[in-house]
Amino acid sequence: MSATADVIIVGGGPAGVAAAMELRRRGAGKVVLLEREPELGGATRHCSHSPFGMREFGRVYFGAAYGRRLAREAADAGVDIRTGHSVARFHGGGRLEVASAHGVETLTARRVMIATGARERPRSDRLISGDRPIGIVTTGTLQSYVAFHGLMPFRRPVIVGSELVSLSAILTCLTHGARPLALLESEPHMLAPAPFAWFPRMAGVPVHLGTRILDIRGTGRVEAIRFRRQDGVEETIPCDGVLLTGRFTPEAALFRQSEIGVDSASAGPAIDQDGRTLDPLCFASGNLLRAVETGGWAYREGRAVARALALDLAHEPVPSAPTAVTFEAPVKLVVPSLLRRQGSGEPAFRDFQLRFTHRVHGRLSLEIDGREVWAQTRTFFPERRVLVPIPEGASAAGSVRFRFREPG
Ligand SMILES: Cc1cc2nc3c(=O)[nH]c(=O)nc-3n(C[C@H](O)[C@H](O)[C@H](O)COP(=O)(O)OP(=O)(O)OC[C@H]3O[C@@H](n4cnc5c(N)ncnc54)[C@H](O)[C@@H]3O)c2cc1C
Repeated sequence: MSATADVIIVGGGPAGVAAAMELRRRGAGKVVLLEREPELGGATRHCSHSPFGMREFGRVYFGAAYGRRLAREAADAGVDIRTGHSVARFHGGGRLEVASAHGVETLTARRVMIATGARERPRSDRLISGDRPIGIVTTGTLQSYVAFHGLMPFRRPVIVGSELVSLSAILTCLTHGARPLALLESEPHMLAPAPFAWFPRMAGVPVHLGTRILDIRGTGRVEAIRFRRQDGVEETIPCDGVLLTGRFTPEAALFRQSEIGVDSASAGPAIDQDGRTLDPLCFASGNLLRAVETGGWAYREGRAVARALALDLAHEPVPSAPTAVTFEAPVKLVVPSLLRRQGSGEPAFRDFQLRFTHRVHGRLSLEIDGREVWAQTRTFFPERRVLVPIPEGASAAGSVRFRFREPG
């Protein structure tokens, strides 16, 4: 059976679009981009604020305009764009089952790249007790209501979470007639870095750190949220909505239901230094790899993995057993989590990217075959990117391990 395409990319967000364009630019042949939504742009489409596009296009865009620019660039590059196409199953070996208005079809390619992004955890994933009233949404859902349907589900919400995306949530509320009554964060500090961390208070939103949500109340609509403050006192805020922000998780269903599976630490597919997964014909990039990065980061990552993939198309892949990159708590995840001896020669990833589970001060070190080759002592914060250069020759090592020691 002849392949449908040289490369099929799943996901038309910044990572997938950048990859498709790079592949075309490098003469990869027929490149098909599958997107389940009616337009390209991914999560940026519903962001009614900037900044997007500075590094890739040299100017600042609002989210929706950035999405349109991506779509124009992909069409100009000769990418075969198929919106309204949802991948229902990934069989591995370059074979996908795709559902669209025309029915379900099987598409095949010499290589596949999956770039299906990440999503905020909904209430069910956060185990928040209480009633089940209307008016509890994530930032992404709120922005989709506003951008695509002109609906604002509440006027006086309480915001849960303090990652960067909570700023996006506050902006969306303030520009669409809602005034957040408070921001609740379970950690004893803001998760967004300064100066962004100051924004909620500057916008007049009271911040409560170190809180634990007890329950949400309301018959029909949200009426109140009850929480325990850091000092142990219980407090109730009457409100008409709860906006759950952050705590992103990779949109990795295609991997979970395939034989490839997911990396238990990142919850996305395990990849090597070229972005290749455990299936030699399948690559992955963007927020799917780890939650969560900016649009520009996802774009550059998609482009870098596409470069490695383009080199790989020149020959049949030589499957070699990868070396797993190991680590210990409080390191939460490492990407790439595999290294392969036979890489493309132009790795997509020059750095390991790490995340920590909580704020901690100590010494992080990297050992290759039992020898320490890198170390740094400082304070590490959760949900903030830590980059460690991948040492030359590491892909040929028998063991690659991150260690962490607290002082004393
Ligand atoms: C509320 C919010 C605010 C943000 N604000 C900013 C900001 O101000 N600045 C910034 O730089 N970044 C911001 N970001 C982050 C930015 O949007 C993401 O980093 C970026 O969109 C990630 O790109 P991606 O290509 O990895 O994934 P996504 O953009 O999530 O794209 C993934 C695509 O895959 C598609 N898809 C998923 N599954 C399937 C399937 N089975 N079949 C077909 N298609 C599928 C999805 O429909 C989606 O279009 C924000 C994100 C959110 C949620």
